[in-house]
Amino acid sequence: MQREAALNAKGYSERDEKRILDALGRGLLKEFPNPDRAGCPGSDVLRRIASHAMPLPEAEKWLDHLTSCSPCYGDFSQFQAAHQRRRTQRLLAIAASILIVVGVAGWALFFKQKGPPAVQTAVLDLRNRSVPRGGEPNPDEQPLEVSRGVKQLNVYLPLGSAEGPYEIRIATPAGKARFATSGVASLKDGVTSIQAAVDLSSASSGRYLLQVRRPNSEWNSYSLLLR
Ligand SMILES: [Zn+2]
Repeated sequence: MQREAALNAKGYSERDEKRILDALGRGLLKEFPNPDRAGCPGSDVLRRIASHAMPLPEAEKWLDHLTSCSPCYGDFSQFQAAHQRRRTQRLLAIAASILIVVGVAGWALFFKQKGPPAVQTAVLDLRNRSVPRGGEPNPDEQPLEVSRGVKQLNVYLPLGSAEGPYEIRIATPAGKARFATSGVASLKDGVTSIQAAVDLSSASSGRYLLQVRRPNSEWNSYSLLLR
C-alpha cells in the first residue's frame, strides 16, 4: 500500500485518469474546433499532464479547457500514447532483465547440479603397477578407473619402458577388444608416456582390461573399471 501511495504521489489514480480521459473524450465528441488555439495551455502542460508529471490539483484547472478544445484533446492523446509506450518499454526492459537474471541463475544452478564437466583427459598410471606375468592382470591390485566420457588417455608406462610405438586397447575380461589405438611413447621428466584419443561413449560401464604392448609382442593387461 505504501508503495502504491508513493507511485500515486502526484495524486493520480486509475480512476482519476479515466475521469480525465472521459472528460476529454466528451470534449472531442462535442467537436470544439479551435484553430487559433485560444486559451490553450501549450504542449508542455499537455505533455506533463499526459505523463503524470503535473500534480493533479494543478492539472484540474486545465480540465475545463481540455473538455472544450478538440486540438488539445488530439495533442493530449498523442502524448498519452507516447507515455504509455515508454512505460510499456520500461516494463518490458524490467521483465527482460528479470528473465536474464533468472536465466543466468538457472544456468548456474544447472551446472552446479550437474557438477563440474567430466574430465576430458584421464591419466592411467602404470608406473607402480606390477608388470603382469603371462599377460594376466594382477588380481591383488585395485583396477584403474576411467570415465566413459574421457576423450584422451595419458598412459604412464611402467618404469623402464622403452620409447617408441605401442599399441593400446581396451578389451572385455574375455579379451575381446572394445577400443584399440596406437601411439608413440616418449620420455619426458623421467616418465615414458603415450597420449591417445579415445571414444568409450558406446561401451557399457563395468570391468575391462587395459592392454598395452609393443608391436608384435605379448599384451600386458591391467584391470580397468569403466565408469
Ligand atoms: Zn486547447
